[in-house]
Amino acid sequence: MANVVVLGAGLGGTIMAYELRDGLGAGHTVSVVNKGAQYSFVPSNPWVAVG
Ligand SMILES: Cc1cc2nc3c(=O)[nH]c(=O)nc-3n(C[C@H](O)[C@H](O)[C@H](O)COP(=O)(O)OP(=O)(O)OC[C@H]3O[C@@H](n4cnc5c(N)ncnc54)[C@H](O)[C@@H]3O)c2cc1C
Repeated sequence: MANVVVLGAGLGGTIMAYELRDGLGAGHTVSVVNKGAQYSFVPSNPWVAVG
């Protein structure tokens, strides 16, 4: 049984976690560790700046 930890829940980490979840069998765990509690979709950050 594998315990896979993905560091960073940005675009790369989030997609990787979903791919791992789909690809690994049910006997394996996937954990995602992120710096903060919120997901940030980086390409949309300019929209925050302009309200
Ligand atoms: C304004 C802007 C517009 C963009 N537009 C596009 C676009 O249209 N199309 C496109 O393909 N790409 C676009 N990009 C590029 C794209 O956003 C990045 O290539 C992509 O976000 C990189 O993904 P990443 O997972 O490597 O990093 P990120 O998405 O930045 O994720 C990194 C994650 O790691 C976390 N983290 C950082 N330090 C730690 C730590 N010490 N411990 C735990 N977690 C940590 C962060 O909180 C974050 O969630 C754009 C970028 C910008 C800035």
